[in-house]
Amino acid sequence: MNRIGIDLGGTKTEGILLNENLEPIERKRILTPQNDYSAILNSIVDLVNELKTKTNESTMGICTPGAISKKTGLIKNSNTQCLIGMPLKEDLEKALGQKVSMENDANCFAMAEAKMGAAKDYNMVFGVIMGTGVGGGIIINEKIHQGRTNIAGEWGHHTLYQNGNKCYCGKSGCVETYISGPALEKKWNDLTGKQESLPQIIQNLDNDIANQWKNEFLNNFGTALANVIDILDPDAIVLGGGVSNISFLYDEGKKAVYDSVFSDLVDTPILKNQLGDSAGVFGASLL
Ligand SMILES: [Zn+2]
Repeated sequence: MNRIGIDLGGTKTEGILLNENLEPIERKRILTPQNDYSAILNSIVDLVNELKTKTNESTMGICTPGAISKKTGLIKNSNTQCLIGMPLKEDLEKALGQKVSMENDANCFAMAEAKMGAAKDYNMVFGVIMGTGVGGGIIINEKIHQGRTNIAGEWGHHTLYQNGNKCYCGKSGCVETYISGPALEKKWNDLTGKQESLPQIIQNLDNDIANQWKNEFLNNFGTALANVIDILDPDAIVLGGGVSNISFLYDEGKKAVYDSVFSDLVDTPILKNQLGDSAGVFGASLL
């Protein structure tokens, strides 16, 4: 059967129709309506119906920002605020007259990279998103491992430092408050007084302050990901999100991880994603 995937982002919504061999038949991008739930709902329905004109029958999956409550099926913790508390899956199923699968962006990313991207030869894959936030998804034999309460893989909110940086989630010292893009830029600003973006920062890391910034980053990245390996021992880890473009994560970063793992044998591949921005929409179609 053909597959439709929708990637609902904060600014753009992308739709794709794949054939049985997972090759794109049609692909379309629209702007996401702002601050208006029913406008977002209608725009997704229109996009799906347009893709449906090119196929007889298809499955339908959607990738959303934020987590989906296991208890209520409603979206929680989304940075697209008008989605919070809304029954998007149920409303889409009603409007489209078919079953809809819905997952958060980290799980969709992990699914896409495990099935058709950088980690496609591995059974158990930990997909990491390091961008505005830090998230993760676990794929076991081509299936998402959601966990009892849908939080499996959420390594961004495990505690790196007790009484550390305050996190929006209500806790302190979460990984996300140290190695997300905004957290790294804030730390740079605290150390240097400069307001620079991550790509600007990593262009010249050749003085003592810059070294301090980089070493703290590597230590935090290493400890946080080593904790994941100690518990999960995945066959491969794939990195995605804006922070994953930093090339030293794949040599010095990998070494920092390996140095912190509880084992005499560590060889977990830490891979750069292959699908880039397309992971969300491909992952959604694979649900
Ligand atoms: Zn947190």
